Amino acid sequence: MRVIEPGHIYELNNLDGEGKSVLITYVNRENNPHEGTQTQEILRAQIDINSVLIDRTNHCDSCLRWEGNDRIIKAISESQRQLRLALLYHEQRALERKMDKGKLLPENIPVAEDGHIQIVEDVCIWKENKHTDADTGCGYVVNDQPLRVKDLMRADYTSSPYKFCFGCGKKIKFIPLNEEN
Ligand SMILES: [Zn+2]
Repeated sequence: MRVIEPGHIYELNNLDGEGKSVLITYVNRENNPHEGTQTQEILRAQIDINSVLIDRTNHCDSCLRWEGNDRIIKAISESQRQLRLALLYHEQRALERKMDKGKLLPENIPVAEDGHIQIVEDVCIWKENKHTDADTGCGYVVNDQPLRVKDLMRADYTSSPYKFCFGCGKKIKFIPLNEEN
């Protein structure tokens, strides 16, 4: 990695091809204005990449079980939690600045039954199915992990149960077979 424009443009190592550079370009609203992305968006991409890594590891584990894969998934899940925290801290910064500018009054944000800020939950419903592991609301196929999805959904089975859908990234609402169908 090479810094092209401090704080704004970074060049990544490029393999093969004709030396066309791969850049991470941040938006610049300072001395040299140009378009680009922001750290939050790259954090979201990294969180999604961790989901891919977990999914891939599960897939490989269902081909050939190795107990060390559980540790790999735990490590990736913990790293994903840290990335989500980093994203939350960015949002905290943005909310504080909006409050200081008078654009946000925290006392006016609706609260839920638990007395805290209301979160509108956008969930992906995973319905356990007799023939596959689960039918997912977004169409993500989970039946390449025979008999493991239900176990991985249980909080007592692992410290990192599935919480977010690998298909759409939404929080999973899991409906076991005996409750619904
Ligand atoms: Zn989904």
